[in-house]
Amino acid sequence: MIIDTHAHITGPSELYEYFRGFTNVSGPAARALHHFAISDDYLESSIEGHLKEIDEVGTDLQLIVARPWAIPTAERRRPLVTAITEQLNDMISQCVRLHPDRFIGLGSLPQSPSLSPKDALEEMDRCVNELGFVGFKINPDPGEGGWEAPGMGNDYWYPIYEKLVELDVPALIHGGPFRFSREPELGYFCQEESVAGWSLMATPEVWRDFPRLKLIIGHGGGYIPYQYGRARAFRINGRRSDDTLWEPFEESLRRLYYDTVLFDQDALELMLKICGVDRCLFGSDRPANGSIVDPRTGRALNDVKSLIEAIPWLDDQDRRAIFEGNARLLYPRLNSGASR
Ligand SMILES: [Zn+2]
Repeated sequence: MIIDTHAHITGPSELYEYFRGFTNVSGPAARALHHFAISDDYLESSIEGHLKEIDEVGTDLQLIVARPWAIPTAERRRPLVTAITEQLNDMISQCVRLHPDRFIGLGSLPQSPSLSPKDALEEMDRCVNELGFVGFKINPDPGEGGWEAPGMGNDYWYPIYEKLVELDVPALIHGGPFRFSREPELGYFCQEESVAGWSLMATPEVWRDFPRLKLIIGHGGGYIPYQYGRARAFRINGRRSDDTLWEPFEESLRRLYYDTVLFDQDALELMLKICGVDRCLFGSDRPANGSIVDPRTGRALNDVKSLIEAIPWLDDQDRRAIFEGNARLLYPRLNSGASR
C-alpha cells in the first residue's frame, strides 16, 4: 500500500474569494464570517483532477491538509484567522467523507501573532475527536516573516506539544504564507522548516519534557540533511562538561522525522542515508507545482514513488517501511479506519 503523508487540497476558488472579501474590510463586517457551505457535488468536481493525479502514480491513501497559503496567519484579527482555519478544516473533512478510502485528514491550526498556542487547543480537539483527523500541520512562522516567532524549541510551543502527545498524533512542520519577495516560496519553506528543525535539535529539554512528541520536518527536512556535517561540528564544539543533556548531533537528528517531498533521486538518497530509512515517510505534495513533467524523464517531478523504487540499495522491507510502515507507526489513528 502507498500512503502519501504530504498532500494539500485546495477546494473551490469561491471559498477563498469569500475569505478575501472579509479580510479586506474592517469594522463590524469583518466579524460576520459565516460558514461557507460547499455542496458535495461542487466539492467533488473541484477535486476530480486531484484524484486523477494520485491515481496516475499509484497512491492508495493520502493524508490531506489545507494549502499552506490558505490561512492568512499574519492577520491580527483573531476571529478571522480562527474562522478561516475552522472552515478549511471542515472542507478537508468533507473531502474525507466523500472519499474515505482515499483521503485521511490532517488539521490546520489557528495561528497568528495575535493568537497564543493555547488558542489552538480547542480546534485540535475538534479535529481529532469530531472530524477524525490523524495529525496536524504546524506553521513555524505564523508572522510570515514580519514577526519573530519563537523557535520551535521554545516553551512558547509547549501547549501544542502537550496536546499532540495527549491525542497521540504527529504534526508536520510546514512553511505557510510569506510576505517578502526576497525569500520566494522555494527558499522560504525550506528555510523555515530548517529553522524549526535546528531549534528543536538544539533544545534537548523539549525531548526530555515530551519524549513521545512526533514531529515531521516537511520537504525532506529542509536543508538539514545537506548540512549534517557542519551541524556535527557545531555540536561537538559547543559541548560543555556540565551539560547533562548534551547528545551527539546524530541522535538529535533522529528525534525528528522527515518526508520524501524532494523530487530528485540523489537528494532522496542523501536524506535516507543521513536520517535513516526508519525516520522517513513517503510524501509527494501531489498535486502541486511538482506535477510538471520532467523533460529529462517524461514523468511528473512529484512522481516520488518511482524515484524511491529506483534507489538500488533499498530492499523490499525498506521500501515497505517508507511507503506504508513508518506512517502506520507514526500515525496510530491511521489504523483505526475499517478500510485502511
Ligand atoms: Zn506541502
